[in-house]
Amino acid sequence: MNKIATITLDSDTFAEEISAEYSTDEKEKIITETYKKSIERIFDVLNNHGIKITFFIISSHLEYSDCVKITQKILSEGNEIGDHSYSHDRKIINLKESEFLKEIENSKNILHKKLNVTPSGFRSPGAEINESMIKILSSKNYLYDSSSNSSFLYSKLKKIYFASFRKEKYNHYKITNTDLPRKINSIYEFPLTASCFLGLPLFNFFLSPLGKFGTGILNRTIEKKEYLNYVIHLHEFISDNEIKGIHIKKGLMNIFNNTIKEKINFLNEAVKRFKNLSEIKTLKDFYYNLSYIEK
Ligand SMILES: [Zn+2]
Repeated sequence: MNKIATITLDSDTFAEEISAEYSTDEKEKIITETYKKSIERIFDVLNNHGIKITFFIISSHLEYSDCVKITQKILSEGNEIGDHSYSHDRKIINLKESEFLKEIENSKNILHKKLNVTPSGFRSPGAEINESMIKILSSKNYLYDSSSNSSFLYSKLKKIYFASFRKEKYNHYKITNTDLPRKINSIYEFPLTASCFLGLPLFNFFLSPLGKFGTGILNRTIEKKEYLNYVIHLHEFISDNEIKGIHIKKGLMNIFNNTIKEKINFLNEAVKRFKNLSEIKTLKDFYYNLSYIEK
């Protein structure tokens, strides 16, 4: 059987950097400028290859009309819009049930109001999920979640990051040790793929700064895995000096300094490789079309 690949885009901007604080106006400018520049750059590559992806949107971004317009266009071109939470709290797995429920209700309301979309899928900020969140997603009629990752190193790095930047304790949680799609309670989990490099998740963000070495990791991972879930982020495709008048604080999102051109080339190469070896679908199409998934 053909391998299946899903390319997913998370709408993170520098405004969600956990160690940085911006005023309301600054936040709006960072977010809208990122949508304007990054989305055009990313979809130029994707549309050239004729592929459709799942765009996991931080639904509070839809409070800005520029973001609504741009997202409507992506949607009208046949891509899927999924829910990347309302507030993008990276410690979302540590929220109380009622707080998580509020996140989901906010997202559903705003996605419906601004885009007329009922989201089928959820991606947690921070790439983790637990059983009680799954239960709530299912009660709100989500079909799938795509948040879990089986990487040992990722959770360690996250713990260190929280301790050093936020001076906060972070409770890691792992729902599954596999990176194959599977049913958890009543919905489907499409985990992030653990790459062949220290098991780190297959994030464009990790691989692209590594250049040829990154391409090598990508090739080996594509060959080895049956199911691939490749993750890109909006903040990768804009440089901090393109957001005029705002000093973008340094953090995890902008520690790598390869150029936008290099990043676009890397994405283009990555998409080519996925296309050669696998069928690329949105997660929603994947959910509906895979006959071996027992629903
Ligand atoms: Zn995110």
